[in-house]
Amino acid sequence: MTTDHLQKYLLEDRSTRIQTVDLTETWLTGLAHQSYPPVVRDLLGQLCAASVLLASNIKFNGSLVLQLQGDGPLALIVVECQSDLSLRATVQLRQELVVPDNATFQSLLNSNGNGRFIVILDPADRQEGQQPYQGVVPMQGDSVAQVLEHYMKQSEQLDTRIWLAANGSRATGLLLQRLPDHGGTAEDTETHHESWQRAGILAQTLTTQEMLSESPDTLIHRLFWEEPLLTFEPQPVRWFCPCTRERVANMLKMLGQAEIESILSEQEKVDIACNFCGKPYSFDAIDCARLFIDGQSSADPDKPVEH
Ligand SMILES: [Zn+2]
Repeated sequence: MTTDHLQKYLLEDRSTRIQTVDLTETWLTGLAHQSYPPVVRDLLGQLCAASVLLASNIKFNGSLVLQLQGDGPLALIVVECQSDLSLRATVQLRQELVVPDNATFQSLLNSNGNGRFIVILDPADRQEGQQPYQGVVPMQGDSVAQVLEHYMKQSEQLDTRIWLAANGSRATGLLLQRLPDHGGTAEDTETHHESWQRAGILAQTLTTQEMLSESPDTLIHRLFWEEPLLTFEPQPVRWFCPCTRERVANMLKMLGQAEIESILSEQEKVDIACNFCGKPYSFDAIDCARLFIDGQSSADPDKPVEH
């Protein structure tokens, strides 16, 4: 039973949306088979929290993908959050480059100004030939939160404030978003504007340390105790990578029998990790032989299937 969830609130005057996300089990599962330098791990955690905050705001059935193509020590980060708030993420480092302990968002991903940050919305029922929506996020800012705030303003015309924090055991975030005014008097608009501003000022006092040590409920209460809030049902978040032993077996079949035998001539077994979540799978000589015995769906089109 996971306690990880996304929680939505509204200021009672409907001027401002407030969302929190708190990931512990999800985050630990995501890290289980990975060993990233702490600064990379924390950046990934922030992106995971951000992806849930953004995905939960979109009325859309499919996946939201944050894809960062870096030109520094980080070659690639992909974070994928489905509409049901299941999440997976992966990182590719440039092994030849050292990650300094004090590396920043910019130095990790955009050290030569050639980094790319793309938001992809991929509908679950995408027709053949239909392209997923892609938005380019300018790499402006010193943090994931700042970069995404700029993006929301530019591409969605939404005033958004984001706070993110992550360490080796937790990834957490807070989002404030100004809701569009729906008619009302000039006075209403003025009041809404003041509410939005006040919420931002209250949240600005939040520190990373507080975010990592307190529950979001506690923080919301501490920050907004004077504000009448509408509270919604929490939505569970979980880690999910669809890799299975069977899928990995199919991948090995695609490599072909000769290739597998050549690997086995040098080592006892074939060790292979899911290239998304890093989960290790191991196939010994007997497992490998079985792959090719039954002749099922040999992926080598030139190889006759034996019966
Ligand atoms: Zn996997």
